[in-house]
Amino acid sequence: MDTYKIIPLCLGHIQRPRSNMVYGCGDDTVTTYPLISYYIEGNGHKIIVDTGGTAPDGEKWMPYERKSNESMEMQLKKIDVDPMDIDTVILTHLHWDHAGNNGLFANAKFYVQRLECADLNQPGVDTAVVSKTSYIPVDGDKELYPGIRLILAPGHSAGMQCVLVSAGQGRYLLTGDLIPLYENWEADPKIPNGGMYDLEVITESIRKVEKICDHILPGHDNIVFERLCHEATVKGIC
Ligand SMILES: [Zn+2]
Repeated sequence: MDTYKIIPLCLGHIQRPRSNMVYGCGDDTVTTYPLISYYIEGNGHKIIVDTGGTAPDGEKWMPYERKSNESMEMQLKKIDVDPMDIDTVILTHLHWDHAGNNGLFANAKFYVQRLECADLNQPGVDTAVVSKTSYIPVDGDKELYPGIRLILAPGHSAGMQCVLVSAGQGRYLLTGDLIPLYENWEADPKIPNGGMYDLEVITESIRKVEKICDHILPGHDNIVFERLCHEATVKGIC
């Protein structure tokens, strides 16, 4: 079986009301959430899923902070990976906090759903940044490499995609902003992201992905770093 190593990278933190992440919770407590990208390696590929945000400028997307060791360059250096060796970048969607460092990966092919790259002016997108990248558009679900599948899962954005990865302990779904936190997933019934354009569409996407994975790796949850540190074949950097 084709399996991969998955390493989460911490690319800074945002502060947002909890209700932004947990639909219908009625709790507007401002909470700190990480920006997470994932490095995946295996079968001759070095892959990045989401590239994080541009450096905080004190104006846009605030409150948002990033320590010097939380840049994409520094996080990759920590695991001894050269950005020029990345051959594939998969973007779950094009929001500013997921596609801000595309320019670092000069030798990579960039895969995005066609529905997502059709509108570079959508809210939450840093149009000036993402328009510099050339994308390979994907239409719906697709096996990108053996053991890596792209899964169309709209609701947070129109062309949101998740990434299903075969790893040693089963099938891991990198959920991006479809499911930003473990608490969205572990509730019964599952709770959508508070940031969405259509409740029915996002609920349908959650139903679709829950049938196909054994574990999830969400886009904005600190717990990712704790859990992966305790798993043997999916390696965390602690
Ligand atoms: Zn988003």
